[in-house]
Amino acid sequence: MLRRAKIVATVGPSSSDVLVLEKMIRAGLDVARVNMSHGTYEGHTQMIAKIREASKLADKEVAILLDLQGPKIRVDKLPAPLELKEDEEWVIAPSSKADQYPEYKGRIIPTVYENLVEDCHDGARILFDDGLLRAVATKRDRDVYKIKVEVGGILKSNKGINLPDCDVSAPAFTDKDRDDLMFGLKQQIDYIALSFVRKREDVMQVKALLHKLKMNIPIIAKIEKPQAIDALDDIIDVSDAIMVARGDMGVEVGNHLVPSMQKLIITRCNQAMIPVITATQMLESMTENPSPTRAEASDVANAIWDGTDAVMLSGETAAGKWPVQTIKMMDQIVIEAEKTPKERPFLRKMDLSNVNASVMVAASMIAEKVDGRFILSMTESGSSCRKISMFRPRTPVLGVTNSLATARRMCLNWGVKPFQIHDYGRDDFNFQKDVVNKVKAGMGLQNGDKIVITRGDGKFFARGSSNSVKVEIIKDMPKVLGSSDVVDEASDAKKKILLDTSICASCQNCVSTCPHDIWMVTKDIDHKTTIDASKIGACAMDMACVEACPTGAIEIMPLT
Ligand code: PEP
Repeated sequence: MLRRAKIVATVGPSSSDVLVLEKMIRAGLDVARVNMSHGTYEGHTQMIAKIREASKLADKEVAILLDLQGPKIRVDKLPAPLELKEDEEWVIAPSSKADQYPEYKGRIIPTVYENLVEDCHDGARILFDDGLLRAVATKRDRDVYKIKVEVGGILKSNKGINLPDCDVSAPAFTDKDRDDLMFGLKQQIDYIALSFVRKREDVMQVKALLHKLKMNIPIIAKIEKPQAIDALDDIIDVSDAIMVARGDMGVEVGNHLVPSMQKLIITRCNQAMIPVITATQMLESMTENPSPTRAEASDVANAIWDGTDAVMLSGETAAGKWPVQTIKMMDQIVIEAEKTPKERPFLRKMDLSNVNASVMVAASMIAEKVDGRFILSMTESGSSCRKISMFRPRTPVLGVTNSLATARRMCLNWGVKPFQIHDYGRDDFNFQKDVVNKVKAGMGLQNGDKIVITRGDGKFFARGSSNSVKVEIIKDMPKVLGSSDVVDEASDAKKKILLDTSICASCQNCVSTCPHDIWMVTKDIDHKTTIDASKIGACAMDMACVEACPTGAIEIMPLT
């Protein structure tokens, strides 16, 4: 059974071994997420090489998603962890200014973010370490801000700071992000995720840069700020995919709002026909334990029923004890959830004025009606597969492509399995037959299985131009089944009749045309057309059956 929703898993120290990565891929990993908030370029280079190697070993394509850190505000390096107690007064200051205020010595929390004091205002909440520690800004004193602790705890170096009530002036795409993006492009990564997006322009800025560089890499906007929720439709409009980044979102808007935000974002993405990833703490307890809690299993299943295209693992696979088991568990939960799919009728009312979209939807409906095993979508850029994916076809889709980059990107598309064809160049009917034979062998198709093929009528693999649908019935038979040179007793004429079973449509036109019962239908479940060799001598060679054959599968010739 093919799983439809995709699994994104963050890689890290727990998954840095090629053999572990191979097992993760075999267990169901579709997209490997490299988190640029941690690590060095050298480490990331090695990790990316290992993912590619593991993908070869597992014989399965995997997409690499480079997740840029964005303007994450952090506590700077501390000589030792600080203990913040309820109702205590501390000050927060950019590290560059901290030394200038000896009067606050021992009570300063240094931050790497230069503009924190400028962006802050009295009464604003200041949250540390994913909101575990909380304070409120009380009064600005020159370059520092006084804060009062509301929920205390131990504060360590590099912990995140969230300012949900402040208009953070730092750009969504930082200098570090630009360097990281350049690094990723050299590494031929497949997707880029932008953190702390607040508005449409944040995505457009990176799009413009990629355009200038002539790089067509899809952008995933992470929705985690309240401002991004307000500008959701505008952001969806210009993004290639969306991530519901529930970690920072929970800190910024409050955990009580996360479930309804998740549903809203997924529905809007479904309507806009772009993929959406649901992220963070999906199987969190598996960081330590070999099985998840019931609540976590339900969380994954509910995201599937909400209509997510992909579910994501973070610390579970990057730093957890059970990276392979976590993916296996997620795979099982998703497969079970998909057995009872939730109908989203609006998906089936999508705008079909685009020829390519209408052809893909027609293919999906035909495949459903004829009980097709697969839809084979011949695609160059993957755009046909993205369209059919958003229609949520009940039949699994094989995205057949000659492009490695496209095969990898399709790893994120719901219900689409990439199927890369390596030998290409011939652009004819025989090539299509070869592709079908490869799929037949690769996917274990049986005689009688139906597949629905979509393709353009120009180049075999064409960009967004699929304009035809064909239903093909798999016939696992020898190329030439029947040949006979029996001599009729009554006449001395010898004939030979050939039937090319690889193209015979089993329409039985020949059976009804022949008055001598030379053509017959087998009695097994396949009901194949075949030749009664004992009757060939009676053939009048009037070629009626040859003319009646719609596929040109019959040949009749005198034997000399
Ligand atoms: C999140 O906040 O949920 C998220 C996915 O982002 P990160 O892991 O980069 O904090």
